[in-house]
Amino acid sequence: MPNPHDFHQNVLFSTIKLDPEKVPRRCMVCGSNPSLFEYQRHAGSDPRCKKMGSCCTACAFNMLLQLADEETREWAALAAA
Ligand SMILES: [Zn+2]
Repeated sequence: MPNPHDFHQNVLFSTIKLDPEKVPRRCMVCGSNPSLFEYQRHAGSDPRCKKMGSCCTACAFNMLLQLADEETREWAALAAA
């Protein structure tokens, strides 16, 4: 049985070094906005769960909301145990 703490998630955001010669890349998540951040996210210690890419502000915000949502569910599961 997996330890619930192994589902600990990490999301790391960093700004992209802007190159004035290049047009900003598109967000890899929604594909429409220019990407402003680079992100890395992984769950637990499994390297296969690792995802990285670039995203826009809206998608970065969504990722944080998702993370908060999962955290809330984990707390609820702990409280119900
Ligand atoms: Zn986006």
